[in-house]
Amino acid sequence: MSRIAYVGGQYVPHRTAAVHIEDRGYQFADGVYEVLAVCGGRLVDEERHLARLGRSLGELRIAPPLADAALRLVLREIVRRNRVGDGLVYIQVTRGTAPREHAFPARAKAVLVVTARRRRPVDPGLAENGVAVITIPDLRWQRCDIKAVALTANVLGKQAAREAGAYEAWLVDRDGWVTEGTSTNAWIVTAEGAVVTHPADRAILNGVTRLAVLDILRGDGQIAIERPFTVAEAKQAREAFLTSTTNELLPVVRIDGDSIGNGAPGLLTRRLRELYRAHVARAAAAQ
Ligand code: PMP
Repeated sequence: MSRIAYVGGQYVPHRTAAVHIEDRGYQFADGVYEVLAVCGGRLVDEERHLARLGRSLGELRIAPPLADAALRLVLREIVRRNRVGDGLVYIQVTRGTAPREHAFPARAKAVLVVTARRRRPVDPGLAENGVAVITIPDLRWQRCDIKAVALTANVLGKQAAREAGAYEAWLVDRDGWVTEGTSTNAWIVTAEGAVVTHPADRAILNGVTRLAVLDILRGDGQIAIERPFTVAEAKQAREAFLTSTTNELLPVVRIDGDSIGNGAPGLLTRRLRELYRAHVARAAAAQ
């Protein structure tokens, strides 16, 4: 089956889909994106993803290329045309195409790209055994709350993790606080059983999975605290885990080579993973 992409208002073969060489996303990383999960052919947590897309666009003063209702139709159509049962939808909006000049162009029209692909469920081995993370300096800019396509520091960080034999890199700011992972939010469970993650300020992306897990924790009577933690605290934690749309919720069992807890996925982490997966199934069914 040949894949179909939505580019600048048209459905085109994925193989030949293209934007102009003077697209500002290509030249300046002047754009934003979203990644949504598809479960049983339905979008998961669409409201929150579209709300965050709107916010990212607003912060960069890019006029939305489509009204929300029209965008929702495109998302459904791209899922349908690609016959995605379980998979991912990628949305990218750039400020448009214009002769290269840093300041906003007078007349550029935002360029919307939407793609979809099938994927197998998250590797059960990762959930079973947990993953290792390394810690590295957070070299990113000061507006990590915007889901911008400028991901150079994230790319370098993820590659550093791969080369160290780890799954993810946790980013540490100048004051020693863990902000988040290169493409995931970072969490620990303290000795007292409180679940801790960095507050949703400008230092992190407020993950849609993060928000769902906070809802789950509060509904489950657990203690959820939004505050930063250090690498030292994380290494002493009872449990640790990471979250994102593509990874769902994965146990972290090693940080810089040091075992967390007894080196196996924690009990609360396992429970939260199951509750999150149930949330995904429920959210998709409600579409
Ligand atoms: N932080 C960063 C830097 C990310 O890139 C992502 C994934 N896009 C996340 C956190 C997790 O966000 P979400 O749960 O919305 O996928």
